[in-house]
Amino acid sequence: MDSKEFRRRGREMVDYIADYFENIEQRRVFPDVQPGYLKELVPSEPPQHPDSWDNIMNDITRCILPGITNWQHPHFHAYFPSNNSYPSMLAEFLVDAFGAVCFSWASCPASTELEVIVMDWIANMIALPKKFLHSNGVGGGVTQSTASECILISMLVARHKALKNLSHLHQNLEPGVLLDKLVAYRSKYAHSCAEKTGMLSLVKMRELDVDEKFSLRGNTLEKAIQEDKRNGLVPFYVFATLGTTSVVSFDNIKEIGEVCSREKIWLHVDAAYAGSAFVCPEFRVYMEGIENVQSFDLNPQKWMLMNAECSALWIDDKEALIDAMTVDPLYLQHNHSDKTEDFRHWSVTLGRRFRSLKMWAVLRSYGVTGLQNHIKNHCKMAKYFETLMLTDARFQIVGQVTLGLVCFKLRDNQLTEKLLSSLNSSGKMHLVPAAVNDDYIIRFAVCFQKINEDHIRKSWEIIRDTATKILNDTE
Ligand code: PLP
Repeated sequence: MDSKEFRRRGREMVDYIADYFENIEQRRVFPDVQPGYLKELVPSEPPQHPDSWDNIMNDITRCILPGITNWQHPHFHAYFPSNNSYPSMLAEFLVDAFGAVCFSWASCPASTELEVIVMDWIANMIALPKKFLHSNGVGGGVTQSTASECILISMLVARHKALKNLSHLHQNLEPGVLLDKLVAYRSKYAHSCAEKTGMLSLVKMRELDVDEKFSLRGNTLEKAIQEDKRNGLVPFYVFATLGTTSVVSFDNIKEIGEVCSREKIWLHVDAAYAGSAFVCPEFRVYMEGIENVQSFDLNPQKWMLMNAECSALWIDDKEALIDAMTVDPLYLQHNHSDKTEDFRHWSVTLGRRFRSLKMWAVLRSYGVTGLQNHIKNHCKMAKYFETLMLTDARFQIVGQVTLGLVCFKLRDNQLTEKLLSSLNSSGKMHLVPAAVNDDYIIRFAVCFQKINEDHIRKSWEIIRDTATKILNDTE
């Protein structure tokens, strides 16, 4: 393809995308395909000779679109939002054009410097303590591909620091023996990536119980720590969540942080979903105690209108991070080497995209007030859905509606499971379940960027009518 054709095809693609968004409501939310559907439509060998762009686009429409789960559909209520936006997409287009691999200042100065700036912007927007700012000199923020990666990095840094301290105290013990002494903690409602992080880092991770609001409390943690210390273990890391995946509950980081400070334990806060809500001052009550936290993650790719991959990690001790992550071959060094400005020392991966360009484009296009309005609208729509559901006694709301998620169930697990299966197979809506205590519940997440009361009412009517059918069939 030459630049003349690229100009034409690019314009066509923009129209194709705008048409997709304008007509998305006519599509099924969840595709009507079975596993292996694509093998029947696409040859098993690549073409020997160049194919035309027209043929490729026709096949995108014929083979790929029918297999897309439409995350940007007004009735997509599964998982959490994965909001993108036109400014984000346009900036990504340019990032692909630059094709820069942004692992050091020299590999792309604009990317590195813009990342420093936007990470400080967002930290200030959500009122993180000053210790997390690059401009403060002690800590800083860095983008990663996903929250799972942010969390793994926080664990690796904490583990590195703990092992270093232990090896000073026990110089005769092998690193493997010291590693075996370490123990970390998470609540039973922590995202599964916390468990995976423990598994990959080869550290024991204890699962702790929560209170009636699904919140991990300081006294539960304290008890577990004292018990483990009596058994010769070394508590070194606590994983707390603000906005759990199952029900959007909030661990009590004030109480947890006080315990961690006293015991000199690294406290990581995962706010992958809820972190974006802290753009609105009214939701910052959940952040009480944030000053005692060592690292914090949020996913702008979930709720801040920046498309994936775009996760953010802040750490209050960049020296500890760099100490844990640095290897420095000659071919990656440059004349302006400053480890605090080379994000390869802040990441597991070397290669990284120019993520900050879309972040900058979105932050400027919407402004703080635009993002606040977006979050507030989603939370208001969740409350509206709750109000509608409360009019029907056949449904029970589970947990509290704190942000943009409403969890509910019918009178027993079997009926609730049937309802979910029927809703998803209808193609009219997509939702996912969660397990809370012994209950099978349905999560209704407000996801669509421009959602309004009409969309919510329609979703409610589909759920209500489907439940009526299921309940009538079983009577
Ligand atoms: N933490 C929470 C609270 C989440 O809800 C999720 C995903 O939904 C994650 C972590 C993992 O996010 P990622 O897919 O970016 O690794």
